Amino acid sequence: DAKAEGRNTWHWFEGLSPTINSEYVTMRRELMEAIEQQQFEVHYQPIIAATSGRIRGVEALVRWRHPSRGLIAPGQFIPLAEQTGQIVAIGQWVLQRACADIATWNRQHSQELTVFVNISPLQFRRYGFLQEIQRALEESQLAPELLELEVTENVLMSGTGRAIETLGEIRDMGVRVAIDDFGTGYSSLRYLRELPINKVKVDRSFITDITDNSGNAAIVQGIITMAHHLGLRVVGEGVETPEQAQDLEQRGCDFLQGFLFYRPMPLADLHPAIASGKRHAR
Ligand code: C2E
Ligand code: MG
Ligand code: MG
Ligand code: MG
Repeated sequence: DAKAEGRNTWHWFEGLSPTINSEYVTMRRELMEAIEQQQFEVHYQPIIAATSGRIRGVEALVRWRHPSRGLIAPGQFIPLAEQTGQIVAIGQWVLQRACADIATWNRQHSQELTVFVNISPLQFRRYGFLQEIQRALEESQLAPELLELEVTENVLMSGTGRAIETLGEIRDMGVRVAIDDFGTGYSSLRYLRELPINKVKVDRSFITDITDNSGNAAIVQGIITMAHHLGLRVVGEGVETPEQAQDLEQRGCDFLQGFLFYRPMPLADLHPAIASGKRHAR
């Protein structure tokens, strides 16, 4: 999608025509092997409640443990996987892994963290997606309310009728939906009102200079105010400084996510990180 292509530029075959680029062919083959051999890992980044500073959930973020290139960030292979359709298999694996990981983690630590899972446009539109969700929930025994799917605005805007139908069915399952990177796509205020969604995640690009760009500050305030009127909660993405956190909290932002609090980490680090009280003091 436009969002992914604009921001997650990958470098292996930039500027070359995909069909004649041998690197493209190599990487597609390597991705195929990666899927077969399960070379992917899911890391988790905590999302905290703005006022209490307590962790309320984690976002699942995929990484590729490449046999020779090491750990590869999603921006370097998700766009290609979108083009080739391989994102469907990868996304399905991430969904199952993330539900299983957090269900187990919650049981072990007597907690109720929500797991946020990114869903690609292709995955969302695919016939059988609802059964995929159902299966992930059944196998993991995760409560549906603890699963929140992240989709971008553009997914919801294109083929709107069907998208709204799918969202309704997801809601009927008890699963929640957040709009990711909000403000970067074709934001329509009308569709926000009509869609059965729970949260908007304000894109990092608005947060980065929120304290010295009055235009972006106004946009963020507008999003928060509007979202609250519509009964939605708001997550601020990419919070890196205490000033940004304080600004967002004062504007009524409900949840915060960013390097200021925690970076994405392997599941095994989650409990130590939380227990060490590396939580942002407020
Ligand atoms: P996203 O869903 O918007 O995820 C947030 C991204 O921002 C993550 O990058 C995260 O590490 C990064 N981030 C979080 N806090 C900060 C901060 O304070 N500063 C900065 N500079 N960055 C921060 P990551 O893990 O590299 O993922 C990039 C994108 O790849 C994601 O953006 C998402 O669009 C996509 N992605 C990741 N995992 C999946 C997946 O399982 N499926 C699909 N379809 N897409 C995925
Ligand atoms: Mg996301
Ligand atoms: Mg995001
Ligand atoms: Mg993003």
